[in-house]
Amino acid sequence: MTRDLQLGDELPDWAGAKEFYQKYDPKEVIGRGVSSVVRRCVHRQTGQELAVKIIEITAEKMTEQQLEEVKSSTLKEIHVLKTVSGHPSIITLIDSYESATFIFLVFDLMRRGELFDYLTQKVTLSEKETRSIMRALLQAVQYLHSLRIIHRDLKPENILLDDNGHIKLSDFGFSCQLVPGQRLRELCGTPGYLAPEILKCSMDETHPGYGQEVDLWACGVIMFTLLAGSPPFWHRKQMLMLRMIMEGRYQFGSPEWDDRSDTIKDLISRLLEVEPAKRLTADQALAHHFFRQYEPEEVRSFSPYRKFRVLILTVLASIRVYTRYRRARPLTRDILTRDPYSLRGVRRLIDACAFRIYGHWVKKGEQQNRAALFQNSPKIVLLELASLEEEEAD
Ligand code: ADP
Ligand code: MG
Repeated sequence: MTRDLQLGDELPDWAGAKEFYQKYDPKEVIGRGVSSVVRRCVHRQTGQELAVKIIEITAEKMTEQQLEEVKSSTLKEIHVLKTVSGHPSIITLIDSYESATFIFLVFDLMRRGELFDYLTQKVTLSEKETRSIMRALLQAVQYLHSLRIIHRDLKPENILLDDNGHIKLSDFGFSCQLVPGQRLRELCGTPGYLAPEILKCSMDETHPGYGQEVDLWACGVIMFTLLAGSPPFWHRKQMLMLRMIMEGRYQFGSPEWDDRSDTIKDLISRLLEVEPAKRLTADQALAHHFFRQYEPEEVRSFSPYRKFRVLILTVLASIRVYTRYRRARPLTRDILTRDPYSLRGVRRLIDACAFRIYGHWVKKGEQQNRAALFQNSPKIVLLELASLEEEEAD
């Protein structure tokens, strides 16, 4: 792996790296970030498989100031990780080592990778699956916020899946713990997920700053994306996308949202609320009707009222199935060749095939709608914001 560091190096500065290599055997790359590489690694004594995030802090590639920034933000990341490790929906930091050139963070290995890759494979998720993912995500956010920690980079690439398909929140690189009453002004995060107040704040010096509400906005963007298969705010020109965000301009378009419930749209619209004070908190979101549906105890308890309710719902569902069946158009070769996309089943099949073929390309593409999930470093936002400001001034 990291060609410079070898087991047995005697340089005192590299003591941390040496310790890491003595204890762990790094294997193949399983992920990459802006200034980090993540590898599978094996604990030499026990054979346990883990993941190591290796953050490079060498002067060759960065200016002195960038170096300091990476170092201090990684130390902050370690502090937050140590504070929150142990929550069932948050990644566990197992070990950390520092050397003059690298920092090593050892985590649980999340074998099923990113929620993003899972989503591109499945194209869209069901309401049931979205419910279980969003519940776990919001519980993690609720826990962070109870400790006054803001994540600031919630997105499907930073949500990982374990062996059982349960999610764990990771990448605390932009997170920070606030002191009571503190507001933030810094422009950071990933463009498609930035809350309107983060953008407004960086354009207006008199803005009071932003707080933990920004994480709930990102949860709204994630929830929309899981159900629609594409993000709510996207435009080929990033500047226009940022404007859409600031105005809270998005749509539950057709056909993706035709079959989705009002309950689910209601929750999304309360998370994608431009005014932070009116946006749902994590507690409020978890209390939303959407999370009260299909609770396991409803199935288990059979009070007379529940029995009656189940009976009525079954009758109503049967009527609905019967009437829909009667209204259904017969599938003819003509419809299939003329307008295949109008048929729900065929539409899903086409989308799924397209993603199996183009998935790798979409991840890097510039022109594709779904590429917005991945694109853009904060630096680009700054440039775009500058031009947006110029345009506003004109
Ligand atoms: P960055 O801060 O540079 O974005 P991340 O912590 O998000 O770094 O890691 C980059 C990528 O590495 C993730 O998006 C994911 O694909 C992979 N990764 C990170 N941690 C783990 C882990 N514990 N298990 C499996 N893959 C991981
Ligand atoms: Mg990341």
